[in-house]
Amino acid sequence: MHYVSTRGAAPRASFDEVLLKGLATDGGLFVPETWPHFSELEIRALRGLDYPTLACRVMTPFLGATISVSDFEKIVAAAYDTFDHPAVAPLVQLDADLWLMELFHGPTLAFKDVALQLLGRLFEHVLDSRSARVTIVGATSGDTGSAAIEACRDRVAMDIVILHPQGRVSEVQRRQMTTVDSKNVHNVAIEGTFDDCQDLVKAMFNDQPFRDELHLAAVNSINWARIMAQTVYYFHAALALGAPDREVSFSVPTGNFGNVFAAYSAHKMGLPVARLYVGSNRNDILTRFLKSGEMVAAPVEPSLSPSMDIQISSNFERLLFELHGRNGSAVLADMSAFRDTGRYSVDTALRTEVNSLFEGAKLDDAETATAIEHFYQSTGELLDPHSAIGAWIARGKSREKVVPVVSLATAHPAKFPQAVQQATGITPKLPKHLSDLYDRPERCTVLPNDVSAVQNFIRDKVGLTS
Ligand SMILES: *Cc1c(COP(=O)(O)O)cnc(C)c1O
Repeated sequence: MHYVSTRGAAPRASFDEVLLKGLATDGGLFVPETWPHFSELEIRALRGLDYPTLACRVMTPFLGATISVSDFEKIVAAAYDTFDHPAVAPLVQLDADLWLMELFHGPTLAFKDVALQLLGRLFEHVLDSRSARVTIVGATSGDTGSAAIEACRDRVAMDIVILHPQGRVSEVQRRQMTTVDSKNVHNVAIEGTFDDCQDLVKAMFNDQPFRDELHLAAVNSINWARIMAQTVYYFHAALALGAPDREVSFSVPTGNFGNVFAAYSAHKMGLPVARLYVGSNRNDILTRFLKSGEMVAAPVEPSLSPSMDIQISSNFERLLFELHGRNGSAVLADMSAFRDTGRYSVDTALRTEVNSLFEGAKLDDAETATAIEHFYQSTGELLDPHSAIGAWIARGKSREKVVPVVSLATAHPAKFPQAVQQATGITPKLPKHLSDLYDRPERCTVLPNDVSAVQNFIRDKVGLTS
């Protein structure tokens, strides 16, 4: 298995290169050169497997010769052993044809753990075999930072530096990052916004001497290995509900389009998926695109579901590549237009194709609160604002009684306690392993929005653990 770039002008790469590099040299995203395909018979043979075994079967075709199957099995088992539910991604029935897949049983209570617990271990494995060391640098507006820190803490082959905007992440999110007591974890609060943090990270990656000196690496949401890990739970849910003999639909609260692209990938791999519902909050660029065929950026506005406050869904480029018949120059033209003018559009044929599988829907904050209240009143389930958006859309679709709809619960309600409290009057409790989160000491350095200040900090800190 090799990987190609969505912009068509980078050399093919193997799985370990894709893992460590993240982005292709032409600025594109890596995708498999061909999609692995599971026949009906092969899908039927996956029924009844526990999550780690299923995960190995589904992901092995993506690895090529880079990791041995027995090493991979150990890595996968260790990654999912950190989840506090034996099913890893349990299904809860909410209505006759409506299911919730809980993806928040990992260490930091968001679905990002499913991919990042695996990624941290894969990084370490590949680096060990090369006797190499990296400095992982990232910016976060909330959930990714804590999931990445938890996945990389105490690993000898890496340091991790996470920038967050000072005073602009929730208290639970901040404490999940700053209370991790590991020598290789370095939290920085930037006096600025999330965009400032992202610009600082970009500037450091563009500073080639600095990048080489510190062996910078990224674990952001465009890393192919994250998508690969997320395909597994679509198989897991569909198998439980009757695949390959029955189709299912999925409803996915969406930001960067990574999670829902994993659903599309599972579909390409042979899983019978009927529809994919793409949920948005008021930042509804994808809903507008799916209705009009025009991708038009608008300013980002804050909402109750901050992890979906995004106007540029970077992983959408992977779908665009497929829609354009894997023509990298066509993708490049759209991406250049988007960068220069803030818009691009697809023709009617492509729009029909995308609409044959994908449908968008949005909820504003008031509707989100109503959805949280509805599910609490009717089922007793407390949903976080992101999960509630997906579930509300899924509820409407499931009542059409075509196929079962599985809605993805992407965060634990205790990650967003204010929104849940306001909608239901109930303050969701943190799980046991985090129950003393508010008592743990925090470690964090405040720095100005200045790239050399951040670079000096990183030079100063990194390498202390080796
Ligand atoms: C990251 C995140 C999302 C968005 O997922 P994408 O893969 O970026 O579309 C949705 N909900 C929660 C809770 C998240 O942390």
